[in-house]
Amino acid sequence: MTVRVENGHPVVRRSVGGLATGLRGPHERSGGLWIGWPGTIEGLDRTGFEDVDRQFATARAVPLSLDTEEVEVFYEHISNGVLWPICHDRIDRLPLRVDGWDVYERVNARYADVVAEHYRPGDRVWVHDYQLMRVPALLRERVPDARIGYFLHIPFPSPELFMTLPTRSWLVEGLMGADLIGFHTRRYHGHFRAVLRRLFSVEANRDDVVRWQERPVRLGVFPMGVDTADFAARAARPEVATRVLEYRDSRQRLLVGIDRLDYSKGIPRRLLAVERLLQMHPEWRERIRFIQVAVPSRDRVGAYRHFRHEVDALVGRINGAFATPTWTPVHYMHRSVPGDVLLALYRAADVMLVTPLRDGMNLVAKEFPASRIDDEGVLILSEFAGAAEELSDALLVNPYDVDGTAAMIHRALTMDVEERQRRMRALRATVIERDVHRWTDCFLAALG
Ligand code: ADP
Repeated sequence: MTVRVENGHPVVRRSVGGLATGLRGPHERSGGLWIGWPGTIEGLDRTGFEDVDRQFATARAVPLSLDTEEVEVFYEHISNGVLWPICHDRIDRLPLRVDGWDVYERVNARYADVVAEHYRPGDRVWVHDYQLMRVPALLRERVPDARIGYFLHIPFPSPELFMTLPTRSWLVEGLMGADLIGFHTRRYHGHFRAVLRRLFSVEANRDDVVRWQERPVRLGVFPMGVDTADFAARAARPEVATRVLEYRDSRQRLLVGIDRLDYSKGIPRRLLAVERLLQMHPEWRERIRFIQVAVPSRDRVGAYRHFRHEVDALVGRINGAFATPTWTPVHYMHRSVPGDVLLALYRAADVMLVTPLRDGMNLVAKEFPASRIDDEGVLILSEFAGAAEELSDALLVNPYDVDGTAAMIHRALTMDVEERQRRMRALRATVIERDVHRWTDCFLAALG
């Protein structure tokens, strides 16, 4: 949920992201509650806040507020500044001091308090993501019999990297308060098992169950999906089709990248691969156009500010070197785009470039085939995205290999129509079968 103040009045909106969509059904059917931080709300008087509370109650959501220090330390510094880079293999992005875990604990304890306050026997509690790794154990202390599931939406890193965290044992102990711990892929699940072995000498049995303080804790792999039917329906709308025609140009093939502006997404090397393509295959000059959309993200964290300038400079350099009076190779949009534009870009793309250096799942890789109701378009996908475990019909690349990625773009651009459609049909079948509703159903069934 997010709160906006419009003409002095607060408006509470449901988020449109994958998680909110996937859980909408179970939330409504089971009379569930959302508990979370709706962001910092400013510019309201007392009646305004009462109005917000009423709207939250109607939406069956319980807001939890964070003060300025908590936002800075718990959210920006520890969660996005320390846990995010370690889980995405980037210890080089770590700040020199990784302190502030007391604030992380305090906020996690507040979540546990609010859950405990609303808990009724028989409830299932589902805790999400790396900001709340301590919540399962803290809630277990407060409600020993609670049924608790935890899902990690980002990678669980290789044990060598995880062991660099000063708080490694404490974080794992936090997770082990759950009854069920879910990961996107077999690889992350394997990393977690290896960490359990190294830190605590415990081993999961054949059913993936670990004995932990006289309780069974089950581990599992639950690859998240997208709302495929919704993407297909929206992609078919005439407003989208009109835009697709505007974006397409019969003289040029369209390459598209859509990401949050994050150093894990591989945007600089992707730009270098496009540059390399133009060097290796000059015949593509003036015949391709690369649209990169990058949503501004986390610009209060130092590592992200520098990164933004790096991308700006690279786009400028490549366009400076190759542009002609009538053609610019890279169209860079540093902003969020409305849903129709996003869908039209998915539908207009000849080649979709999803080349993160590391990504828990990467939903863009699934939204693209979900939108290609015409069975067209080629997906180039990093083997280091969680999605690669399922989407083997994409063209898989090592995003660190710039020359190899450039060669793969060339292959995608010259692929014959039969192979293109065969691959896209297979990708579509996978994302249709494993959509977000199946993901929530599987996790909740296992937890039940
Ligand atoms: P992450 O969770 O790391 O941001 P994902 O690929 O899993 O990465 O999810 C990104 C989500 O954000 C997708 O649902 C995608 O549609 C949406 N998104 C990405 N870029 C944009 C953009 N420029 N405008 C609007 N939505 C975007």
